Amino acid sequence: MDARAINAALRRGETPGDADLRWFAQGLADGTVSDAQAGAFAMAVCLQGLSTDGRRALTLAMRDSGDVLSWDLDGPVLDKHSTGGVGDCVSLLLAPALAECGAYVPMISGRGLGHTGGTLDKMEAIPGVTTSVSEDRLDGLMRDVGCAIVGATAQIAPADKRLYAIRDVTATVESLDLITASILSKKLAASPDALVLDVKTGSGAFMKSDEDARALARSLVDTANAAGCPTSALITDMNQPLAPALGNALEVAEVMRVLTGETSGPLAEITIALGAVLLVQAGLEKTPEEAAARLSAVLTDGRAAARFEAMVAAMGGPQGFACDWQSVLPEASVIREVTAPQAGYISAIDGEALGLCVVGLGGGRMVESDLVDPAVGLSDLLPLGARVARGTPLVRIHAAREDAADRAAQEVLAAITIADAAPKLPPLIHERII
Ligand code: URA
Repeated sequence: MDARAINAALRRGETPGDADLRWFAQGLADGTVSDAQAGAFAMAVCLQGLSTDGRRALTLAMRDSGDVLSWDLDGPVLDKHSTGGVGDCVSLLLAPALAECGAYVPMISGRGLGHTGGTLDKMEAIPGVTTSVSEDRLDGLMRDVGCAIVGATAQIAPADKRLYAIRDVTATVESLDLITASILSKKLAASPDALVLDVKTGSGAFMKSDEDARALARSLVDTANAAGCPTSALITDMNQPLAPALGNALEVAEVMRVLTGETSGPLAEITIALGAVLLVQAGLEKTPEEAAARLSAVLTDGRAAARFEAMVAAMGGPQGFACDWQSVLPEASVIREVTAPQAGYISAIDGEALGLCVVGLGGGRMVESDLVDPAVGLSDLLPLGARVARGTPLVRIHAAREDAADRAAQEVLAAITIADAAPKLPPLIHERII
């Protein structure tokens, strides 16, 4: 086979056959395909698109470019993927909650991307936790704990690893075909029995409009189902951060507040909604209502907290985290309140700008090699619709230095709009895609 012939077919608007796509994905993984050929492939797919069958074939070919995990467990293996947002620490709640309901949850997660936070960075904000584990160890974690949040090994979808890096520098990230194959090749490599997708829409999401989010959700759901994995999606609101905190340790603190019953709100609500879809899909509950009630119970009665604590300890973190988290999590040296410059209602929050503000504080990466400061970020953010007087605290900045806090204060004030009239609040769940 020949990469030139495959690229020429794509250039003419023809979708290559399954065998060609399989050869190309394997070539990406083993280096047979050059960077130039991979870049041309990505651009041709971006411009001409693939057929529906081609999208599925590329997804499966990229999944099969590396290891595909297999399980021998006495319950269903479930997983969730979020397209990325801010203050989105759902995975840390959902994994232990589902495990308490009889599922196994090997959540292969990512690091921060652009303005969005990464689940691995959040887990690693807990001192001692390592998310870099072998496939054998992941299997052990399933047997010992029932859930784990880990990074992909080099053997998981290596074709995606290579193609993603090339897309990043060739202006070919924005293709539904390539995004679908990229996300699902990694998720399907973990062989889940059911998958739920949290497709974010709004100011803090990659997809700013419902229309774009719907198109992505449709593509992901249809492709995953065609690949044999029962999958549905919720399109959920990201016009404001899901939790009132952004930043790695600060988001873990929010998770612990939910798990210890101190708070609930949108973070718990979305966790329950996504989990309920999975429990019904996997046959662990008959109706969404029963599933939601079960998840709500394990989240509030301490069972999910105990499971989270066991996961943290098994992954190298401290014992007794559910009791001790306040003394264990790192704290920033500068904590500063930003107050409302005028009276009114919070009418808009630019989630992307807040996410970038946290990256600027050191809570995310500008370049891959950057070290993340787990302690920095924003907390106590008031929600959309909150009524404020002049001087009301809007948010608290956690910074490593005074000058970083000064900069963040300017950015936060620019990201939050205060208007005279109360805004119309968006729903938490915009749509369900099945
Ligand atoms: N996340 C991925 O893993 N791949 C993409 O292409 C986009 C987001």
